[in-house]
Amino acid sequence: MSAVLQPQELAPLIRMRQLRKVYRKRNEEFLAVSDVTMDVHAGDMISLVGPSGCGKSTLLKILSGLHGHDGGTLEIGGPGGANGRGFNPGRDVGMVFQQPLLLKWRTILENVLLPADILGLERKAAKARAHELLDMVGLTGFADKLPYELSGGMQQRAAIARALIHDPKLVLMDEPFGALDALTREKMNLEMLRIWERSRKTFIVVTHSIQEAVFLGSHCAVLTAGPARMADFFRIDLPEPRKLHVKTSPEFGEYVRRIYDLLGVD
Ligand code: ADP
Ligand code: MG
Repeated sequence: MSAVLQPQELAPLIRMRQLRKVYRKRNEEFLAVSDVTMDVHAGDMISLVGPSGCGKSTLLKILSGLHGHDGGTLEIGGPGGANGRGFNPGRDVGMVFQQPLLLKWRTILENVLLPADILGLERKAAKARAHELLDMVGLTGFADKLPYELSGGMQQRAAIARALIHDPKLVLMDEPFGALDALTREKMNLEMLRIWERSRKTFIVVTHSIQEAVFLGSHCAVLTAGPARMADFFRIDLPEPRKLHVKTSPEFGEYVRRIYDLLGVD
């Protein structure tokens, strides 16, 4: 039998050790992240949970290259980090926020193409890819619509397509479904898992819904109240592809309970 490396044995895409972040404003200092350690492997879907204000968005901003860090180490893209194998956050990261943030005067297709335009990617190929992505997120036939003609859930799917247009290695999502109603949110969760399976990208998704964290994640990172420390990081071993009814299984309930216990919620 040939020796096939399991994904977990490969070098991680992200290697974070004792990461620390201090916000500074004139003479004031604010410790936002005190000690976060984790490995993220290519193809992982990490759900990141923690109390409000604990530093989740700060971590995503550090990973996206928007903020630096003040202590610990962060290597992205293999040993040597940003300089090692040429990981460039501008090209290699896609971002999705709580609001779709579509430009209201651009069509859905033109919105999806925005990062490609900014990065100066070849237009014809980018357009073909945009159509593929719109198909993938279930928006076939909506390319020429304006954002207001789409529902909130559809707009968010367009935002996910936009985050994937430049073929990033890493997709960071900051409470992407927080603004949606409960039913649309459940549908988006399923959609999201489908997109993850098809795109084979690495996702880090911040959510304040414990159920969503367990349902979506291949792994879950739980942070303490700020300044963030890693309370736990574990694999979520539930059957894939996930179906909504897994939420009624005892195993699902045990993961939910584990996170509640970590967060000190009775
Ligand atoms: P979360 O996303 O987990 O709710 P954030 O990462 O947004 O938390 O914020 C963590 C802490 O850092 C909060 O107390 C917040 O007020 C503070 N903070 C966030 N951004 C800044 C900033 N640019 N300057 C100073 N403090 C900030
Ligand atoms: Mg936040």
